Amino acid sequence: MTANWTRLTVDVSGVVQGVGFRPTIKRLADEAGLGGWIQNRSGSVTMELVGPSGRVREFLHTLPRRIPPMAQLDQIVIRGEASVDSPSVEGTFDIIESARNDENRVVIPADLAMCPDCRREILDPANRRFGYPFTTCTNCGPRYTVVNSMPYDRVRTTLSAFPLCDECTREYEDPGDRRYHAESVACPVCGPKLRLVSPSGDVLGGDPLHGARAALAEGKIVAVRGIGGFLLAADATNVEVLATLRERKRRPAKPFAVMARNLAVIRRTVRTTASAEDLLRSAAAPIVILPFRDDYAAGLPWETISPDTRNLGVMLPTSPLHALLFEQLPGDPTPPFDWLVMTSGNRRSEPICISNDEALERLSDIADLFLLHDREINLRCDDSVFMSGSGGTQVWRRARGLAPGAIRLHRPLGRTVLAMGAELKNAIAVGFEDRVVCSPHVGDLETPEAVDALARLTRELPLFLRREPEVVAVDLHPDMHATRIGEERAKDLGVEIVRVQHHHAHAAAALAEHGLDAGLALVFDGTGYGTDGTTWGAELLALEPGRFTRLATFAPVPLPGGDAAVFRPARQVVGRAAALGIAIHDETRERLGIAPLELETWTTQCRAGINTPMTHAAGRLFDSVSALLGLAPTMTTYEGQAAIQLETAARTWDHHGVLPGMAFGTRESEGMLIVDWADAIACLLDPARRHDDIARCAYAFHRAVAEACAKMADFGRAKTGHACVALTGGVFMNDVLTRLARTLLTRNGFLVLTHRDIPPNDGGIAVGQAIVADSAADLGR
Ligand SMILES: [Zn+2]
Ligand SMILES: [Zn+2]
Repeated sequence: MTANWTRLTVDVSGVVQGVGFRPTIKRLADEAGLGGWIQNRSGSVTMELVGPSGRVREFLHTLPRRIPPMAQLDQIVIRGEASVDSPSVEGTFDIIESARNDENRVVIPADLAMCPDCRREILDPANRRFGYPFTTCTNCGPRYTVVNSMPYDRVRTTLSAFPLCDECTREYEDPGDRRYHAESVACPVCGPKLRLVSPSGDVLGGDPLHGARAALAEGKIVAVRGIGGFLLAADATNVEVLATLRERKRRPAKPFAVMARNLAVIRRTVRTTASAEDLLRSAAAPIVILPFRDDYAAGLPWETISPDTRNLGVMLPTSPLHALLFEQLPGDPTPPFDWLVMTSGNRRSEPICISNDEALERLSDIADLFLLHDREINLRCDDSVFMSGSGGTQVWRRARGLAPGAIRLHRPLGRTVLAMGAELKNAIAVGFEDRVVCSPHVGDLETPEAVDALARLTRELPLFLRREPEVVAVDLHPDMHATRIGEERAKDLGVEIVRVQHHHAHAAAALAEHGLDAGLALVFDGTGYGTDGTTWGAELLALEPGRFTRLATFAPVPLPGGDAAVFRPARQVVGRAAALGIAIHDETRERLGIAPLELETWTTQCRAGINTPMTHAAGRLFDSVSALLGLAPTMTTYEGQAAIQLETAARTWDHHGVLPGMAFGTRESEGMLIVDWADAIACLLDPARRHDDIARCAYAFHRAVAEACAKMADFGRAKTGHACVALTGGVFMNDVLTRLARTLLTRNGFLVLTHRDIPPNDGGIAVGQAIVADSAADLGR
C-alpha cells in the first residue's frame, strides 16, 4: 500500500546559505528516513522531500525549530506536490550542486565571528587545527567578504585558490561532520597561511604569530589583516604606544575600540548588561560601547583610550587569528594579553585597507610590522558598532555580521531602489519587495579612496542581489560625492533619480523601523540641506507616505566661515552673539581662545552676511554650549567631539532640576513653531555667571533641549493628531538627551520611537531614502 506517499517541492528563503543549512537538512532527512534532495538557488534553498506524507508534513512542521543557529527562515513555500507510486526512493537524500537562478531572492550571507567549537579546536594541542588562524566551520567564518558572486559556494569565493586536502575533503563530504559543506573550510595543510612582514615588505623568519605577539609586547604597532580588512593592533595597557598610534594616525582624541581576551576581562572593566553580553557573543561580534565601572581603577589607561567620555567600545576576538594574538601557546615566550587596541587599518578618512599591497603602501608610516595572509578579501567590511544606553542597545554602525542584511518593511516597495546615503558615515542600500538591503559602512567620503570604494559598491551590491535599480535615490544636497555617483548611475541605467531631503530620510527610516510610514519625527543632527537653502537639523517633521511637512525648528544662526565653524566651536559662539546683538566680553573671548582680530572679523562677517550660511542644526547648538562652558577644545578633531564632551559633563551631574535662565522660548511664525535658544546663550555669555558649575549647566542645557522636544511634539500633535514621535539624527546618539526627552514625551502621552537596527546617524539615511523615493515616484504618477 503506497497511496500515502508524497513528493513535496519546497522553497525556503531567508538566511539559508553559508550557515550550514543544507547539511542540517540532509542530516534531519536521513534521520527521518526521507528521500529527496536540497539545492542552493540564488538566495533561497529548494528541496524535494519524498516519503510517507504524514512524515513529510511532520518534517516541515518541525523544521523551523531545528534549523542551525545562524539560519533564519523568512518563508517556506510549497511549490508542488505529487503522490508517489513506489517507496523505493526512501532513504536517499542528496545535496545537489547549486543552481544559478536569477529569479529568486538573494540574501548574501554576512560574515560570522568564530564559534565556540572552533575556538576550542585552535586551543587544543591534540587537534589538527591547533593554533591555525583560518579555522572555520558551517557555523562561523567569512562569507560576504570572500564571496565573488552568488550563490555562495566555495568555487565562487576567494577560497577557491585553496584546493582541499584529503582530510578536509573527508570532513566536507561527511554528513556527520561539523564541516559538512562548510564552504570556507581550511586547515594548516591546505589552507591560507600567515606571514610577518616589515614595512619595506621583507618577510621575517620564525613563527609569524609568535613574532607578532612579541612585537606587541614590546610596544610595537602591528597591522593585522583580519576578515573584512586591516586593523591596527597595539597593547592597550601601554600608554606610550597608544600615544604613538594617536600621533601616527593623526587621531588625537577620537576613542579607540579595544578587544578583550574574554568576557571576564570586559566585566571587570565596564558595566555590562545581559543584552550587551548577548551582542558581544553574537555571530556579529560587534564593538559595544559601555560605561566604565565606577570602581574601575587599574589596567586600561582610559584617559588615553577614550579621553572625552567615560565609555569604552569593547569587543571579543572575532576570528581565530584575533584570538590567537591574545593567547600564549606552547613554545611562545610572550605572556597572554588581556586587552589589545584594534583600530581601523586606515589613514585618516580613508576606507580600511583590504589587500596586502595597499596596506604596505598606505599604512607603512603607521605600523611597525604587518601580519599578512593570503586569503583574499573581496569586499571590505569593518566592525559593527552598538551603543548600550538607557533605552537598551542601538546600532551605530552596520558592518560585520549585520551587513548586507535586510531591514524588513511592513509594506512592499513598488520597484527596486538604489539609495546612495549621505556624505559622512556613508552606507548605501538597495530596496526591493518588502526589504531594504543595507551595505556595510563605507565611511566619510573625504578621500578619493573612499569615493572609489563607494563607486565600486554601487555597482556590485545590486549585481550581488541580481536587482537592476529602477530608481536611484540621492540627497537633496547638490554637491555631495554620493549624489554625484548616484546621478552617474541613474544616467548609465537610464532610470529616474529622486532627490530626498536629508531629514525626511532620517525620519522615514526611524518610522519604518517600527512599521510606520506616517507620524511625527524629531530629527536633530549637525547638517542637512533644507528645501529653503538653509541648513536644517533641529526639525519636527510630520510624515505621510512620500512627503513631509516641516512643523517646527530651532531659530537659525549665521555660521561665520561655514564648514570652518564646525571644527571651531568658538566661531559658532560668535555667530550666536552677533545674531543676538550681544558683545562678547574680553574674559569670555579669552576663555574661548579667540584672538581680538578673529572676533572682529567674524562679527563683521556675520553683520555683512559674507560666507555665513544660516543653520538651524541642534548639533551646532551643542557645540556652542560646549565651547561656552570651556569643554570643547579650540579645534575639535572628530565629528561630534564638542557635543560628546558636553554629554560627559552632564552625566556627572546626578541631581535633577532645572536652571533658571536656561529654558528655551518658543514663538509661532508662518504656521511653524520656532524654538529660541537666545536666553540660554545670553545666560552662558554673561560674564557674571559662576563658572564652577559646569556639570550643572551641561545637565540643565540637556534638560532645556528635552523640554523643547516636548513643546515641539505637542505642537505637532495639535496640528496633525499624530501621537507617536520618532527620535532620530546623530544628536540623539546622546544618551542623556534621549533619556530626558523620552521621559518627558512619554509623560505627555506620546509613543516614543527610537532606533534599534538602523543607525540614528547618517549611516541610516539610505534606508529612508529608498522608502521615500519609492513612494515619491508613486505620487508623481
Ligand atoms: Zn566554527
Ligand atoms: Zn585541509
